[in-house]
Amino acid sequence: MAITEQIPGAEFIHKLPGGPVVLASTEKIFKWAKSSSLWPLTFGLACCAIEMIAAGASRFDIDRFGAGVFRASPRQCDVMIVAGTISVKMGECVKLLYEQMPEPKYVMALGNCAISGGIFYYDTYSVVKGTESLGIPVDVYIPGCPPRPENLFFGLMKLQEIVRKERHAAK
Ligand code: SF4
Repeated sequence: MAITEQIPGAEFIHKLPGGPVVLASTEKIFKWAKSSSLWPLTFGLACCAIEMIAAGASRFDIDRFGAGVFRASPRQCDVMIVAGTISVKMGECVKLLYEQMPEPKYVMALGNCAISGGIFYYDTYSVVKGTESLGIPVDVYIPGCPPRPENLFFGLMKLQEIVRKERHAAK
């Protein structure tokens, strides 16, 4: 995608020596930079996490989206990718991790389990019925059992759109 498509209202000046120049407001440039460097939290819960891990490997290469810097501490993260089945025991840990992330923060529910409990929706006492059941607001839902890495990238691009269109610095 061309940079002028990623920054709404940006203009290209083509005929300058040394290469093109992009003109845009600083607010739009900052939002574009923020959307292009979303740092996810390093954690996974079940099978969908394997797809997330594959997305970070060389075949799919999540670094192309600036989102390859998986951090080990929630204090250094922008985005939580809830990847996998949330057991009741894990639920409190997921919520604690979310609360430890600084604002602005975003959440992606990767896979049917993270969206609604998936195949464990019925007749299971040990599974949380989706990320929002924990009181964690989800910005992007990525359905599938499991979704492929390409699906994760599509969701990531949707999240980038959300970040670029945000009107305020924090949610
Ligand atoms: S959605 Fe399917 S692949 Fe993903 S964690 Fe649940 S059972 Fe596993």
